[in-house]
Amino acid sequence: MDSPFNCLVFDLDDTLYPSETGIAEAVKRNIEGFLIEKCGFSETKASSLRVELFKAYGSTLAGLRALGYDIGADDYHGFVHGRLPYDLIKPDPQLRNLLCSITQRKIIFTNSDRNHAITCLKRLEIADCFDQIICFETMNPNLSKATRPDEFPVLLKPSMDAMKLALHVANVDPRHALFLDDNIKNVTAGKALGLRTVLVILLAFFFFFFFGNKFSTFFSKENHLTFIYIYEGWEDGERR
Ligand SMILES: [Mg+2]
Repeated sequence: MDSPFNCLVFDLDDTLYPSETGIAEAVKRNIEGFLIEKCGFSETKASSLRVELFKAYGSTLAGLRALGYDIGADDYHGFVHGRLPYDLIKPDPQLRNLLCSITQRKIIFTNSDRNHAITCLKRLEIADCFDQIICFETMNPNLSKATRPDEFPVLLKPSMDAMKLALHVANVDPRHALFLDDNIKNVTAGKALGLRTVLVILLAFFFFFFFGNKFSTFFSKENHLTFIYIYEGWEDGERR
């Protein structure tokens, strides 16, 4: 049967490996450590600021730079990702088999830096399953040339500019691509650009109970991807 897709675009963190690994928690701890050690915030302030900056700017780094903190992306990523317990991410042969069975072009599209993306993919033993990695560096090539922190705002999903840039760089026609991400804002942005979208959620059974008419089973594997459902839109609930 012909597929409507010639390309699949995958988010990485909490999409290709579950948040239960402990990596996401470690990232949060490291970000708060960065705010305390490098920026001088108190422990209490660091915790609330991390959440506030994520909500307002998409990431702590984006928020700090927008607020005028001269934080280098490499320093930030080195601190936040460089000391993660990556051994918590185990090889996922079922995921590998699933990806190998998909003949279409496969692309990683992550807000994380390239080192983090490559390390995670290697730990999962799926690095060779992907044709291209669109990551922080792809979306922010001029950041290191900035003469002041807010000269080039950090570009990340779900901003439309970031989404458009990723599709352009990867030469993806949204009409024939499927975009999978665990963040509903990212999925909504992708949908607005014409991509077919998949919301990856661990509480899929809960969502399915309440919003069952808006999802349909996409994959049925006894691993993380069991919890992938096709996202059909929150507002109109129309199937496409
Ligand atoms: Mg994610």
